[in-house]
Amino acid sequence: MSLSDSITMKPRHQTIAVNVGGVIVGGGAPVVVQSMTNTDTADIASTVKQVADLARAGSELVRITVDRDEAAKAVPHIRDQLRKRGVTVPLIGDFHYIGHKLLGENPDCAEALDKYRINPGNVGFKDKKDKQFGAIIDMAMKHGKPVRIGVNWGSLDAELLTHLMDENAKAAEPLPARAVMHEAMVQSALLSAERAEEMGLGADRIVVSGKVSSVQDLIAVYHMLAQRGRYALHLGLTEAGMGSKGIVASSAAIGILLQNGIGDTIRFSLTPEPGGDRSQEVRTAQELLQTMGLRSFVPVVAACPGCGRTTSTVFQELARDIQDMIRDRMPDWKTQYPGVETLNFAVMGCIVNGPGESKHADVGISLPGTGESPAAPVFIDGKKAMTLRGPNIATEFKAIVEDYIAR
Ligand code: SF4
Repeated sequence: MSLSDSITMKPRHQTIAVNVGGVIVGGGAPVVVQSMTNTDTADIASTVKQVADLARAGSELVRITVDRDEAAKAVPHIRDQLRKRGVTVPLIGDFHYIGHKLLGENPDCAEALDKYRINPGNVGFKDKKDKQFGAIIDMAMKHGKPVRIGVNWGSLDAELLTHLMDENAKAAEPLPARAVMHEAMVQSALLSAERAEEMGLGADRIVVSGKVSSVQDLIAVYHMLAQRGRYALHLGLTEAGMGSKGIVASSAAIGILLQNGIGDTIRFSLTPEPGGDRSQEVRTAQELLQTMGLRSFVPVVAACPGCGRTTSTVFQELARDIQDMIRDRMPDWKTQYPGVETLNFAVMGCIVNGPGESKHADVGISLPGTGESPAAPVFIDGKKAMTLRGPNIATEFKAIVEDYIAR
């Protein structure tokens, strides 16, 4: 094996495919992007709007909180209103503490959802835990729905953790406390999944996750889950945080796992700015998958960072305008242009890398840098097609890109 072979992406970890309302998760299917609303689910209008916005942004599954009876009763109405609008994205119900009760007392909600998320750490307390977990699995079997057994660092099964800590304390060579936490998370997820299987729920109806807020812990936990099971895996760094911190941490953790072939569906848990756009988490997840060469969602715009050779901000504005234009004009470009796998545009700031990078793009422009003649060669399909000059270079290049897209 050559050095380059040894450092390329590992083959996908083999998992069992799960059909979530028509979207396949695992079994080698493309990695699915999902997201979650932050509206009160009992507020039907707001939830419908946000689910539709997330679906339009590219979320292939959307999770909604089902925390009380009013929320459970709203779910079928949300599903119906979305369908009336032509939004068919599968809906996942997020249940904690009283999921067994809400599903049992609201069969229309149980039917309207495409998957149930259960957290074994807070499905119930002590003697009631197994019974309540079992009641949710029964509902999943009755309605033919898959479940996600979603363990979370912040709500880990206290009984299991205490047992493992006690065992570790008696061991000849005790493990560090962090390793015991990893073990508790993995056992909580896999033992719960096995229990669901024993009750009769097929492995093709089970997705597993083990979310933590630290990058290194997340990588450790998911490697263990992948080594010990074949359940489809939902990846996500929980409480990733706001702004660049959340994006960087999630991208690092999820990117490393995907590079190692681990992960069937991803969610970026980004905290939006107050009043901010919830769809950002969807676009960021798509960008990670596209950057890693795992999927292709939107045409790529390559732009140089600019430097002392850059004569103006024209190229930055042009790169931004082209990116925005593509997002607006081609939100569903793979359906619009069947057979076109990738589209690449380049906006470069000078002659150093401009012509070379532009030739690799479908359409590229090399703007004049410091000391260069005020001319901007344009390359189409790898060949120099024309040279733009004068004050209208940006407008003319946008028209060339529009024309290329139209053709
Ligand atoms: Fe600087 Fe030119 Fe490279 Fe852009 S292409 S970063 S302007 S040297």
